[in-house]
Parts: sequence; C-alpha cells; structure tokens
Amino acid sequence: MTLFAAVEMAPRDPILGLNEQFNADTNPAKVNLGVGVYYDENGKLPLLKCVAQAEAQMQADPKARGYLPIDGIAAYDKAVQELVFGAGSAVLAAKRVATVQALGGTGGLKIGADFLKRLNPAAKVLISDPSWENHRALFNNAGFTVETYPYYDAAARGINFEGMLAALNAAAAGTVVVLHACCHNPTGYDLTPAQWAQVVDTVKARGLVAFLDMAYQGFGEGIAEDGAVIQQFLASGLDFFVSTSFSKSFSLYGERVGALSVVCATAEETTKVLSQLKIVIRTNYSNPPTHGAQVVATVLSTPALRQLWEDELAGMRLRIRAMREALVKALQAAGVTQDLSFVTRQKGMFSYSGLSAAQMQRLRSEFGVYGVDSGRICVAALNEKNLPAVAQAMAAVLK
Ligand code: PMP
Repeated sequence: MTLFAAVEMAPRDPILGLNEQFNADTNPAKVNLGVGVYYDENGKLPLLKCVAQAEAQMQADPKARGYLPIDGIAAYDKAVQELVFGAGSAVLAAKRVATVQALGGTGGLKIGADFLKRLNPAAKVLISDPSWENHRALFNNAGFTVETYPYYDAAARGINFEGMLAALNAAAAGTVVVLHACCHNPTGYDLTPAQWAQVVDTVKARGLVAFLDMAYQGFGEGIAEDGAVIQQFLASGLDFFVSTSFSKSFSLYGERVGALSVVCATAEETTKVLSQLKIVIRTNYSNPPTHGAQVVATVLSTPALRQLWEDELAGMRLRIRAMREALVKALQAAGVTQDLSFVTRQKGMFSYSGLSAAQMQRLRSEFGVYGVDSGRICVAALNEKNLPAVAQAMAAVLK
C-alpha cells in the first residue's frame, strides 16, 4: 500500500477541460468562447498602455522587494477604497472600511469566507442559481453549507426576481448572500437599481450578510454606474463585504490583483476586523506579492495614467457592446428568426445565449466554436474576424 494509493482523481475543471479540448482541435477556424478573458479586436490578450507605462515608471526607479505588510501596499488599499466607495465618501472619512490586498478576486472572496466562518460558523451561504462556478466550491471549502437563490429565468430571458426575493426573505438571519455587483457571471443579467433597493431592504429586514463580488467594475455601464450598488448598500447603513478583482479591468489576470473590503459600523470595529483579516492572511500565505498591486496603485493614483486606464476600460466595454450588437445582427442576417435582442441587454463579458447543451456540443464538434454547455459564451472573445463564422455556426444549430 503506497501513501497515495487511496487518492481519487479529482473531477476536471469544466472550463479548463474545454480549453484542453480547444487546444487539441485541429479545425483551423476554431474559436474559443469558453474562457472568461477579454481579447482585443485582433484576438489578443491586451497589455494595457496604462499598465505598460506604470511598469516603465517602476523600472526607471527599481526597488528592492521586501515583504509587504500583511494587508498589502497601503497606497493600493487606499486606491481600492476610493474606487469602490468613492473618494471623499463619508464611510472612508469615518474609517469604517477595512481593506486588504488579496490574490485576485478569488483571494478576496476566500479571505472573507474564512473570516465569516470564524465569526458565524453555523451560517449558510446563498449563491445565485447559476453563479460563477467557483463560488460554491470556495465557500464549501471554507466550511460552509452552500445553497442557491433563484436568479436566471430561462423562459423570460432575464431574472426571476420574485423568486430571488422570496428566497432571501425565507433565509435565516446571519445567512451570507453572495451577490454579483455587476456583469453577472454567467448570465449577463443585472438587477436594476430599483430591484437592488428591494434586495438591500430585504437583506436589512432579514438580518442577512451581503457579500458583493465585484469582478467586472467598468465592464457593464461604466465605473461609477457599475459601482452604484455599493452606494445603495452604504446608504442602508448595513455592514457588508466587497471583493474586488482587477484581473479583467486591468487585463492583469496572472498578477493576481484583488482586494477584500469590509464595511463596519464604527472605526473601532473596523480596526478589530482588520486585525482578524490579517490573521487569515498571515496563516494562509503570510503577505501578498508586490508587482501587480504596485502597478494598479500607480495607475489609479497618477492622474494621467488614471485617465488612460479609464479610456482603455471604456474601449473594452464599448467593444464588447459593439460585438453584442454585431452578433445579433449577424444572426438575423443568417436567417435566425428567434428574438435575440436579449444579448444586447446583457452586461459584461458573458452571454447566456439560450442554446441547449446539445446545441453547444454541436457548435464544438461541427464548427469548432467552443462555449460552455450551460449556453454561456464569452462575447469579449468575439471580434470582426471570428464573428461571421460564430454567427453562421450558431444560426445552423438554432435552425
Ligand atoms: N468572481 C467572479 C464573478 C468572476 O467571474 C471571477 C473571475 N472569472 C472572479 C470572481 C475571480 O477573479 P480573479 O481571477 O481576480 O480571482
């Protein structure tokens, strides 16, 4: 008997599995719409100019790499707070937000999950149905029972808002509710401000704990518009969690730049919460890495680079929107008679296309167009060159 004889093979990550299948496909016209990555009009992962310029600035004055503080670069945490909560906002002036640098948005979620588990070990976690596939695993792994609240309404091509509210109303006090702040992954359907107001009221009335996952700020309507839900939660006076990811908005996927912010009732509680977040970090990976957060801090706090970033982010956002419109037009031109206008109402990188698993499999095997079996396609991977073939393929399986 060897030490690892009883170890079972873990199931493959479905999206990475799809990538492997894509890489092995010899079809020269293949298109990968499976991954959650923004590609530019040439099908390339962009290196943003603001990032390259910040890196050039950093290289011109190279620094030794000591350990960072456990909660990361102070200027980075401050820049994150100002972006998420608004520079000069009352909650920041009152020192009521604890923010720590994290290993991407995933890291922010995990620090929050570990802290919450210590705070309220019996709490359940509710995630949307469907949700980013790692939400369930991450909170499970932190020791929570994870259940879902209704979200996607396939027949309505939208959100089952009544069902969502009913589930929140039925949840026990202390239940952690994971909410997508904007650009819902995977469906692309976001709540309206009026619907958010009802969610905020319900969270407050039922004593729930809101955990806002903000992985796509700036990819929906704009930086402020996408962050508006944070202002709604602030106005409610609730304590809540926000995880931030810069993977997409800075195209810095591999640098693992994110954060966790916890809004507390008083400055004193904030200091205590921060001390506990630091213990979670210290006992997991001690302290975060330097490079990516320094890039983001430099860009966000240097006015010219900040403007460049906002312009480049707007460029990505508008290109995605243009691709949504072009896809709908091309599908109509290819003879699709179903109403597909919902694709242009969806926000962010993804579209729940409404295609069945069987149709998605046909897209792969017959046309080399790779999306997820749930029907999710990454519209941020479309460009003028691959779009006609994608539309033809989708039209063929829709007929
Ligand atoms: N939350 C959601 C909703 C996401 O879609 C993603 C990334 N796809 C993340 C969190 C994780 O982001 P990161 O890569 O920065 O860890």
